[in-house]
Amino acid sequence: MTLDAAELARLDRAHIIHPYLPGTATERVVMTEGAGCRLTDTEGRSYLDATGGLWLAQIGHGRTDLADVAHEQMKKLEYFTSFWDFSNERAIELASRLAELAPDPLNHVYYTSGGSEGVEAAIKMARYYHHRRGESSRTWILARSKAYHGVGYGGSSAAGFPLYQEGFAPMVPHVSHLTPPWPYRTELYGDQAATPQDVTDFLIRELEERIAEIGPGNIAAMVGEPIMGVGGMLVPPADYWPRVREVLDRHGILLIFDEVVTAYGRVGEWFAAQYFDTTPDIIVTAKGITSGYVPLGALLVGDHVAEALLREQGFPMGYTYNGHPVATAVALANLDVIEKEGLLARATAMGAFLHAELQSQLGELEVVGEVRSVGMMLAVELVADKATREPLPLDPERMPHDVIRRETGVIVRDSAHSLVLSPPLIMTEAEAKEAAGALRGVLERTEPNGRIRQA
Ligand code: PMP
Repeated sequence: MTLDAAELARLDRAHIIHPYLPGTATERVVMTEGAGCRLTDTEGRSYLDATGGLWLAQIGHGRTDLADVAHEQMKKLEYFTSFWDFSNERAIELASRLAELAPDPLNHVYYTSGGSEGVEAAIKMARYYHHRRGESSRTWILARSKAYHGVGYGGSSAAGFPLYQEGFAPMVPHVSHLTPPWPYRTELYGDQAATPQDVTDFLIRELEERIAEIGPGNIAAMVGEPIMGVGGMLVPPADYWPRVREVLDRHGILLIFDEVVTAYGRVGEWFAAQYFDTTPDIIVTAKGITSGYVPLGALLVGDHVAEALLREQGFPMGYTYNGHPVATAVALANLDVIEKEGLLARATAMGAFLHAELQSQLGELEVVGEVRSVGMMLAVELVADKATREPLPLDPERMPHDVIRRETGVIVRDSAHSLVLSPPLIMTEAEAKEAAGALRGVLERTEPNGRIRQA
């Protein structure tokens, strides 16, 4: 059965519930093919994927070498469980590879099928770790406003946006939100916050106060994205994570890095933990581990945490797809590509190139507050006024990223008053210029009231 474009769109509207899409929306972009940074839809339109899908696609689309690996593994062993004493070759090979890549002492791997499952596992692990060590009172989780941690109840409770909580209550109790590190918005930190150092001082003071309020003996862990993605690509000052780590250590509180976006080359290192020179107790990863070719996630777990979890009858939670042989085989092939093609260094170099392009093409525009980036995570902050930094009002019917896609085929994403780019790490200079040019074409017609003039 080959359906034409109109019929596919009609059936989609009739049968698929899309995340974040109102029922009144009629337009559908039905993708059929991908190669490198390019995608093609059923109408034959070509797109430049400057978001890497949803912050992944590290190695780009359409790699047949990964398809071959999946094919071979599926023929040999498509699935068996990893519960109890069962295991499989690929899951073992990948776990040892990840243990090598991750900072010490993160030598243990717990598999999931994605980021949300990973965050749930991490929160449960943190509470269970303390429980096993005789500190069952340690139940509180510290999180931050503007955080995104997936859509499980633990992750939604830790999320720093009302959108993920309103209408879903009751949420998981014992979650407390701190202020996020966002140096551009100095107003968050009181009148005195002029430098990044002031921002960190403010946040560390707040963290210490919150720990004292809740009581250190009641807190299991702090969870945070090393660089906040969905919240708008917020990069903390360099001393933020090392100082947070020091405070948490003093109080026996675990640190969970949610690196679902930042791991596997996105920031020019295997993990953002290395970029910030801070070793958490657990790292949650997904997305880039397979570049999206198949669903997979992996938690990297410290020796001390694993030791507690493995006592007695072991850790009492497991997903059916823990250590899926096809997914882990594809992940191994994906890591090979990242390594052999030097994509960590490429992320740093191409990220700098794309940043410079965005800066030179957009920097002077009235509605552009700043361009910021780490590796291949980039954001363009949209403001109504450069001097006051007032956020640009947005018209939900005509958002800049939608107009950019319709007019140019360049896919970028909106994220809390900024446009966010997280392209495949293999992006070329020509594609980087094309992406920056597409943003310029629309942002130069964007007025401080958020209205975008017709081309
Ligand atoms: N954590 C972070 C930081 C994320 O950005 C995401 C997804 N964007 C998730 C968790 C959830 O991952 P998934 O969608 O694979 O469940």
